[in-house]
Amino acid sequence: MEYISTRGKIGKIGFIDAFMMGLADDGGLLVPSEIPALSKETLDNWRNLGYQELVLEIFAYFTNGEIPEAELKDMVAASYSSFRDPEVTPVRKITNELYLLELFHGPTFAFKDIALQFMGQFYSYVAKKQHKKIHILGATSGDTGASAIQGVRGKEGIKICILHPNGKVSKVQELQMTTVEDDNVLNLSVEGNFDDCQRMIKELFADLDYKSSNHLAAINSINFVRILAQTVYYFYSYFQAAKQHEGELGAVNFSVPTGNFGDIFAGYLAKRMGLPVNKLILATNENNILEKFIHDGVYMPGEFKATYSPSMDIQVASNFERYLYYVLDENSELVASLMEQFKTEGEIVIPHEKLEQVQADFASHGVDGQECLDTISEYQAKFNYLLDPHSACGVAATEKCSGEGEVTISLATAHPAKFDEAIKLCGIDQSFPEEIAALFDKPQRQTLIDGKLSEVVRELDKFYNAQ
Ligand SMILES: *Cc1c(COP(=O)(O)O)cnc(C)c1O
Repeated sequence: MEYISTRGKIGKIGFIDAFMMGLADDGGLLVPSEIPALSKETLDNWRNLGYQELVLEIFAYFTNGEIPEAELKDMVAASYSSFRDPEVTPVRKITNELYLLELFHGPTFAFKDIALQFMGQFYSYVAKKQHKKIHILGATSGDTGASAIQGVRGKEGIKICILHPNGKVSKVQELQMTTVEDDNVLNLSVEGNFDDCQRMIKELFADLDYKSSNHLAAINSINFVRILAQTVYYFYSYFQAAKQHEGELGAVNFSVPTGNFGDIFAGYLAKRMGLPVNKLILATNENNILEKFIHDGVYMPGEFKATYSPSMDIQVASNFERYLYYVLDENSELVASLMEQFKTEGEIVIPHEKLEQVQADFASHGVDGQECLDTISEYQAKFNYLLDPHSACGVAATEKCSGEGEVTISLATAHPAKFDEAIKLCGIDQSFPEEIAALFDKPQRQTLIDGKLSEVVRELDKFYNAQ
């Protein structure tokens, strides 16, 4: 298995090189040169595997034989040993038509841990093997930063800098990032919103001289390895739901709280590999650019809105290009020209005959603030299940988009304790897990900067030159 760019201007590269490249050097996103097709027999053989065993089976199709089996196995074991649930991503049955896939049992209580704890191990592996300095640089709407920092804090050969929008992440998210004391961690708190942070990161990665002389590495979902790690739980949850389901489980819907389109793209990949998936339900909040795309084929970012689900407060979805590539039949020239047009005109209009395909792949619903809070209250009252606001968007979209008799696995992407601001508004008094309660007593470290690229560069220079 090798990796190519959605814009077609780089040659085939291996798995470790794709991991280290992050954003493709031609400005596109890396994708596997072909999507493995799994037989029914393979899927049957996977039904009873544990989570870590399943990771190894799926990764075997993608790692190009570049990592010795025993070493990969150690990395996977180390990645998931910090999870509080032995199943890693357990599935809870709510009704016979609705299952919740709990993705928040990792160290920072959100789904980002599943990929980022592994990527932390993987960066450390590459730093040692190749005697490399690695400077991880990323933007976060809150959860990615916390998780990535947790994954590499104190690790030799690695520094990490995370940009987050000042005052636009939840209190717990901010504390998780800024109370880490290790000297290899820098938090930049940016005056602006997430899109501003992400744009600056993309600009630094697009400057190839800057990228290589500063040893930059990406943890955002522009990195294909992150997508790959997330593909695993689509398979795993299907097998678990099948065990709990009354009657035989056929194709299911997955409802995915969406921001950057990374997680739902992992679901798309699972479907293309052969997992029986009916519809992918794309749940958004009021930042509903992707909902509009699925309804009318026009992708046009608009005005940023702050919501109860800040990790989905994104207008420019960096993974959208990967889907565009597949829906346009892997025509990289067309992708490159549409992305060029997007840069100048600020919108992409998909060819009309492709809209039908988009609507066969996805359904979508944008959940507004009141609907989000109502869903939290309703599930607490009816099922004694406390949803976080992101997971609530997923469940609300499930109710809107899943048809009569269809079974949906709805992704619970964060623990409610991370977003107590919204939970309080529902009049619900939750108790915090110990690990989160302890954060409030720790001192914070962060540097406030305005939204200029030159300021980011200045802070990075200081950070990279420090011992
Ligand atoms: C990041 C995040 C999302 C959105 O995931 P994408 O891969 O960016 O679409 C949803 N919910 C939570 C809690 C998140 O942290």
